[in-house]
Amino acid sequence: MPRLLIIEDEPRISSFLEKGFQSNGYMTTVVRDGREASQMALNGEFDLIVLDLGLPGKDGFMVLEELRGQGIQFPIIILTARDDIQTKIAGLEGGADDYVTKPFRFEELLARVRARLRSFSPTGESEMVLKFRDITLDLRTRRVQVGDRPVDLSVREFTLAETFIRHPDQIMSREQLLNHVWGYDYDPGSNIVDVYVGYLRKKLGDGLIETVRGMGYRMLGQ
Ligand code: CA
Repeated sequence: MPRLLIIEDEPRISSFLEKGFQSNGYMTTVVRDGREASQMALNGEFDLIVLDLGLPGKDGFMVLEELRGQGIQFPIIILTARDDIQTKIAGLEGGADDYVTKPFRFEELLARVRARLRSFSPTGESEMVLKFRDITLDLRTRRVQVGDRPVDLSVREFTLAETFIRHPDQIMSREQLLNHVWGYDYDPGSNIVDVYVGYLRKKLGDGLIETVRGMGYRMLGQ
């Protein structure tokens, strides 16, 4: 089980991250203060750090410098609202491995985390092709097949299909699906999930995604 250290002071975001990562099989620890961050990173055993830049106590750049200065080798992904190019360059030059700009979709961050863990540890997560019933999703090329038939999915449709396939036979609420696929900033009153489930049913076949009244949707294992 990969262990993540999340350095993020905004409770709404850190709990969104914890929920998302835990439901995907990660262990998470959250630190909210820049001053505690490096101590925690040095003492704990982690595989990857998600680092916010705007932190109380000590700015994320200083935390990054400290961590790399102390010889911490494992991947660090910066997560921040600052999207100017100077900040990105400074982050990457400071020793970060990747950069994700807020607002973000959880699946995007998850993909970056997986990619970093894979390239850092060759024995780490290496799952590149998901198979479910007669559906094949290639996470690298984003190609989709139902049986032998190639199917064209948009980015959101692909992410939604991936989310269902990673949680087979599990009821997923609209809110969970919104969080996973569209990000935490999306209006919870929107019917976009229902619309996209409709698209997936058309493209992947009927009888696959069940509506669970008052609760959400479930992808059926058989
Ligand atoms: Ca912050």
